[in-house]
Amino acid sequence: MCTPEITEPPANGLSYVHPGPDSPWNTYLRQIDRVMPHLGRLSRWAETLRRPKRCLIVDVPIEMDDGRIAHFEGYRVQHSLTRGPGKGGVRYHPDVRLEEVMALAAWMSIKNAAVNLPFGGAKGGIRVAPRELSLKELEKLTRRYTSEIGLLIGPQQDIPAPDVNTNAQVMAWMMDTYSMNVGATTTGVVTGKPLQLGGSLGRVKATGRGVFVCGREAARRIALPLEGARVAVQGFGNVGSAAAELFQQAGGRIVAVQDHTGTVWREAGLEVAELMLHVQRTGGVGGFRAAQGMEAEAFWDVPCDVLIPAALEGQITAERAQRLHARLVLEGANGPTLPAADDVLTGRGVLVVPDVICNAGGVTVSYFEWVQDFSSFFWSEDEVNQRLDRILVQALQHIWETAEQHGGWRQMSLRTATFAVACERILSAREMRGLYP
Ligand code: NAD
Repeated sequence: MCTPEITEPPANGLSYVHPGPDSPWNTYLRQIDRVMPHLGRLSRWAETLRRPKRCLIVDVPIEMDDGRIAHFEGYRVQHSLTRGPGKGGVRYHPDVRLEEVMALAAWMSIKNAAVNLPFGGAKGGIRVAPRELSLKELEKLTRRYTSEIGLLIGPQQDIPAPDVNTNAQVMAWMMDTYSMNVGATTTGVVTGKPLQLGGSLGRVKATGRGVFVCGREAARRIALPLEGARVAVQGFGNVGSAAAELFQQAGGRIVAVQDHTGTVWREAGLEVAELMLHVQRTGGVGGFRAAQGMEAEAFWDVPCDVLIPAALEGQITAERAQRLHARLVLEGANGPTLPAADDVLTGRGVLVVPDVICNAGGVTVSYFEWVQDFSSFFWSEDEVNQRLDRILVQALQHIWETAEQHGGWRQMSLRTATFAVACERILSAREMRGLYP
C-alpha cells in the first residue's frame, strides 16, 4: 500500500480532500480562478462553485462468486443543485477517488449550465476494476451501490447516467433497484437506459455526435476542411468510436487510435467499422491487423489536424501540448487537458473546444430522455439528432461570441468563455434564489 503524498495544503480549506497539484479537482479550481475576473458582482458568490454541495461515500459489500465478501468504495457527489436536479454519470474504475468525482461533478454543473439544461451537476463512481468481475458480481455491485446512494437520487433529485465502464445494462439494474425500493417503476431516475425501458433513440452515440457537431462548427470557424482532415483519437469506447465514425463519414481520415490495449496507426486512414468489430471481438484496438502498432507515447507525435482525447483526464500535459500537431483539439473526455497545457496550446494557436461543451451531447440527449420519460411520449431518432445539433450549435455560437467580446479565442480561450457563460448562469440563479434560511 502506498499513501499518496500530500504536496499542498487542502484545496480551499476542504478538510476532506488533499488533491495533488495536477489532480482533477485542482484543475477545476484553477479553471474557476481564471473566470472570476469576468464575473463582476457575481464573484461575490464564487465560493459556492469551489465547494461541492454534498459528498456521499458508501461502502458497497458484495458476496463474490467464490464465496468471499468483497468491499468496494462508492461515491455520489452533488456539486450544485442551484439550477435543477443533479445530473451526471457513474464511473467504474480502479482509480476512482473522491476528489476525482468532485471534479467530475463540478464539470457537470458547468456543462449543464453552458448548454442551458435545467440541471445542476453531480457524479458518482465506484473504485473497482469491473473487467475482473463476473456479470453476476457486477449486477450485485450496481444494485447495492444504487441502494446505498438511494437517499440522494431520484427523478427530481439527482439522475445518474453511464460514464466510463458503465452502460445501458448497468442503468437498467439501477432503475430496477431504485424502483423496487420505492415501490413503483421509475424510469426517470436514470438516463442512458435500454430503449425497452424508457431509453431514448440516439442516446448511445450522442456524446460522440456532440463531439462531431462541435468539431464541425469549430473547424469551419478556423477554415479547416473536414474533407481529408487527419484525425487522431485517444479512447475508442462509447465517445471515441462514435466521434471517429462521424468524422470518417464527413470525409476525415482516422489516422491513429489509442486505447488501454495499444495504439494503432495508418496514414491512409483506419476503417472505423472494422476497428469496431475488432474491439468487439478482442476487447481493444491492440493487434488490429489493418494498421501498424506503435508505442503509446508516440501517439502524441502523430501528424494530424484534429485530436480527440476521449479516454481519461490529465492526458494532455504541457510537454505533450508542445509536441502535438493538431490545429484543433476536441475534448471528448472530461478534463483531458491540464491548465499549463491549455496555455501552451493557446500560445501555439491550437484551438481547444473544451469538454464542458464538446462532450455535452450525451447529457443533452439524457435531458431529452428524462423529458420523454415524464411525458411517456417518445421521439424519432431524427428528431433527437436534429434537436441535439440545434442546441449545441446555439451554445457554441454563444460561447464563441463571448470569446469574441474579449478579443477572440487567442485572448480568452473557449474554456474560459464557456466557464464565463456557465458561471454567470449558475451564480445569477444562486443570487435570485438567495440563501436559505
Ligand atoms: P468507455 O468506457 O466506453 O471508453 C473508454 C475508452 O478509454 C476505452 O477505449 C479505453 O480503452 C480507453 N482508455 C482507458 N484508459 C486508457 C489509457 N490509459 N490510455 C488510452 N486509452 C484508455 O468510456 P466513454 O463513455 O467513452 O468515456 C470516455 C470519456 O468521455 C470519459 O472521460 C468520460 O467521462 C467522458 N464522457 C462520456 C460520456 C458518455 O456519454 N459516455 C459523456 C460525457 C463525457
